[in-house]
Formats: sequence, structure tokens, C-alpha cells
Amino acid sequence: MNRYALITGASRGIGRAIAVELAKDGCNVIINYKSNNEAAQETLRLVREAGSDGELLPFDVSKPDEINQALDKWFAAHPDEYIDVLINNAGIVADELMLWMEPEQWHSVIDVNLNGFFYCTRRVLEGMVENRHGRIVNISSIGGQKGIPGQTAYAAAKAALIGATRSLSTEASSRGITVNAVAPGLIDTEIINKNDISDDVQRFFDNIPMQRLGKPEEVAYLVSFLCSDRANYISGQVIGINGGAL
Ligand code: NAP
Repeated sequence: MNRYALITGASRGIGRAIAVELAKDGCNVIINYKSNNEAAQETLRLVREAGSDGELLPFDVSKPDEINQALDKWFAAHPDEYIDVLINNAGIVADELMLWMEPEQWHSVIDVNLNGFFYCTRRVLEGMVENRHGRIVNISSIGGQKGIPGQTAYAAAKAALIGATRSLSTEASSRGITVNAVAPGLIDTEIINKNDISDDVQRFFDNIPMQRLGKPEEVAYLVSFLCSDRANYISGQVIGINGGAL
């Protein structure tokens, strides 16, 4: 039976690196993204170059109707298979001090980073339970572990993901499903280059003992390990990858 891995937000950055690494591990990769089709096509090319196959499955993780439509179609096309690996990676930031944060900013960050986890996991969990095997990795953040100015909404979502990971692990582990969270520090992707947070990034950077940003591939190696048989006895954990910053 083929092993299918669904990675949300896999068109760019950390998600793309995870897609390539899981392809090297022999998974068929389902590449989710919101709108950047060109970048997602490039991820698919890299997945094939890594020796596996994949497909694109665009949907907005904050919209349950879109998720259900896309996954209904996927399950109909794969009646004898299930999604064995789920990486809840899609995420956005909307940095703003609490004083000026608009309700829309708060809700969009919670919707994508936290509610997306709920909508996607709920749909995929059933197949894992039936087959008594699965791997769920939630991409949290150091922002969910320590305070960073301007990131109240993001920290709330990422800390909630850690709580959800621990709780779901207690429900799922007896059914052969491990659930873990990975909490990256500053990783060199567009999420930090694109946003106007340079002073905060600089302050944060100054406190990284390794004095460099992490690479998306370094996060992907950890996720690959957590999805492998070597990690069979690891569940409900939060693993930081931050150059020693916490
Ligand atoms: P990124 O380079 O900005 O990529 C974000 C990815 O998420 C893209 O594939 C994007 O798709 C997708 N996405 C955004 N909103 C979505 C939605 N509503 N539905 C579906 N997909 C959506 O970000 P990254 O740095 O790789 O971050 C990946 C994860 O790591 C996030 O959860 C982030 O919070 C976490 N993280 C990152 C860092 C860091 O320093 N980079 C640190 C800690 C944690 P499109 O291409 O279609 O827009």
C-alpha cells in the first residue's frame, strides 16, 4: 500500500522542505497550498526529483467547506487508501501590538494557524484510526513557547496547538497514531522576510546562541524522523528547533 502524506502549506518554505524530505522517505506527497500555484508546481517538481510522486490539493485551511470538498474528491479517487501522515504546517503572521490589533487580524491568525489544524485533522484522523497507524506533526513556533512583541494572536494560536497536540496524543496513541509538535525558532523563509518586523527579528536574532537563522531543511529532517518508524514511541511531545534560543 502506498503511504500518503498531506502537508498543508507545502508550496513554499518549511512545508516545501518537508514535502521533499518525506518524498525521499518514500511517501506520496499531497501538496496543499492556498493560492500560489506556480510555487506549488515547483514543490511537485522537487518531490518527483527526490524519487517519489505527488499531487496538488489546493484549499484554504481556514475554510471547512473547501477542505471537505477537496478531501471528498481525494478519498473518492483513492477508495482503498488513506492518508497516513498529516503535517499541519500552513501558517500566517499578522504582527501588531495588542493596542492596535483589529479583530480581523486576530481572527485570521487564529483561523489559519489553529482552526486549520482542527478542520484538517478531523477529516484525516478517521482513516488513521481505521488502519491503526498514523503520524500527525503540528508546526507550532517558539512564539507559542515564549513571549515575542507583536505576536499575541500568533502566540495564542501556536500555544494552543501545543495543548491540542498533547491532548490528541492521549486520544490517539493507543490506536498506533503519534501526535507531536515541532516548534521552530527563526527559519529563513518568506514569512520572516516579507513582513515588517525587522526590529523584532533583529532583537530575536541577537539572542540566538548559534547566531544564524535555521534552514527549512533542518526542520524537515526533524519532521521526517518523527514520521519514521524510529519515532514509534514518541508522542505528545513538543520539540524545539531554534539554534538554542530557548
Ligand atoms: P511561508 O514561507 O510564508 O509559507 C506559508 C505556506 O502556508 C505557503 O505554502 C502558503 O500557501 C500556505 N498558506 C498560508 N495560508 C494558508 C491557508 N489559509 N490555507 C492553506 N495554505 C496556506 O511560511 P513558513 O515560514 O514556511 O512557515 C510554515 C509554518 O512554520 C507556519 O505554520 C509558521 O507559523 C511556522 N513557523 C515558521 C517560522 C519561521 O521563522 N519561518 C518559525 C516558527 C514557526 P501559498 O503559497 O498558496 O500562499
